[in-house]
Amino acid sequence: MAYIRIEDQSKVVIPQNPTIGFIEGDGIGSDITKVAIKLINSSVESSYHGEKSIEWKKVLVGEEAFQKTGKHLPQESLEELRKCIISIKGPLTTPVGEGFRSLNVSLRQYFDLYANIRPVKYFPGVPSPVKNPEKMNMVIFRENTEDLYAGIEWRYDSPEAKKLRRFLQDELGVKLTEDAGIGIKPISKFRSTRLVRKAIDFAIKNRRRSVTLVHKGNIMKYTEGAFKEWGYEVAAKEFADVTVTEEQYLQNPNAYSNKIVIKDRITDNMFQQVLTRTEEYDVIATTNLNGDYLSDDLAAQVGGLGLAPGGNVGDIYAIYEAVHGTAPKYAGMDIANPTSIILSGAMLLHHLGWDLAADSLERAVEQTYKDGRVTQDIARLLNKKGLKCSEFGEEVEKRIKPS
Ligand code: NAD
Repeated sequence: MAYIRIEDQSKVVIPQNPTIGFIEGDGIGSDITKVAIKLINSSVESSYHGEKSIEWKKVLVGEEAFQKTGKHLPQESLEELRKCIISIKGPLTTPVGEGFRSLNVSLRQYFDLYANIRPVKYFPGVPSPVKNPEKMNMVIFRENTEDLYAGIEWRYDSPEAKKLRRFLQDELGVKLTEDAGIGIKPISKFRSTRLVRKAIDFAIKNRRRSVTLVHKGNIMKYTEGAFKEWGYEVAAKEFADVTVTEEQYLQNPNAYSNKIVIKDRITDNMFQQVLTRTEEYDVIATTNLNGDYLSDDLAAQVGGLGLAPGGNVGDIYAIYEAVHGTAPKYAGMDIANPTSIILSGAMLLHHLGWDLAADSLERAVEQTYKDGRVTQDIARLLNKKGLKCSEFGEEVEKRIKPS
């Protein structure tokens, strides 16, 4: 086994045969993860002919972990994921009950996976609710660690809410009614800046045209508005040679044709723009709540969450994932759509720098849809019979060709 190494505290060194962790996931997890791993292996083999390969390490998290160890997220599993550095996961059930923190949230916090990255692109052959879904080719960078998701909130009738309401009235002159629950929305300079920096880095490496900062700063000036200010600031300070603001760009587009345009849009406007001016948007950097809404909305435009890949990425660690849930009604039936986790596997390959394999896997999935070979979730929208999960995997495998 050759683990990925960290040198000089932050440089990630990828060996030719890295050990990559996988969490099978609950519900449909075992069906889809199996298919994804097989296809990732095939695309690597087809592109690098044995020179590179992945050694997979199963990591127990979720229901299987609970059955075997009494814990959903055992410490040994966290240690294993830490050793692997880069991993992929199927969906995990969030058990319903007081005080149970989502396993996904726990993993994101433990490894400081501050960017939720969601590429959204249309595959011909997939039914879509919009007229020109092919215009969509965006990548969302959603801040993953703060905003209203930090979990700082109190029920209206709790002693904490009462205390806070009193403090607000006595110290700051803000009067809230007695029936108001309270949530706090922290947005910090450090976390906003590193998220936007990651989005711009991605835009540079992938020759994208623009980065749009999406915010609701007209209303929430010191949180959402600050996110926008800090976004422009990091672009100007750290990327001045490769970026230009939209304002500058519009004054003389020809002079800046090879620069990445940094622009911003207010969230509500952005929701209509992605429908009416889809082709004008490319990389998006946004706060947690906006990103949550926007990423599902964009996925819906190109055929739904079953196809959308995603990754949670920090400065060192990364966990790629199926974006959808465990679909319990299809568990163990070999009929779920594995596309989301397969494409997340392609993202993982890009992360390793194995672009040839990543591209060949993406093209094979695209060709499978073009040829009308689809699982039942898509097939029923097309009034045809669907493939099993494993059969879909076989169809993709047939179409994997070296880049
Ligand atoms: P879900 O995504 O599991 O299901 C929503 C709908 O989409 C269902 O009709 C389901 O059958 C269908 N669906 C989802 N994925 C599919 C696939 N790959 N192929 C075909 N159909 C698919 O969402 P839910 O029902 O709200 O949640 C079920 C469980 O999953 C909950 O415990 C929830 O906490 C968990 N969940 C986990 C994640 C994650 O691990 N990232 C994300 C969302 C939900």
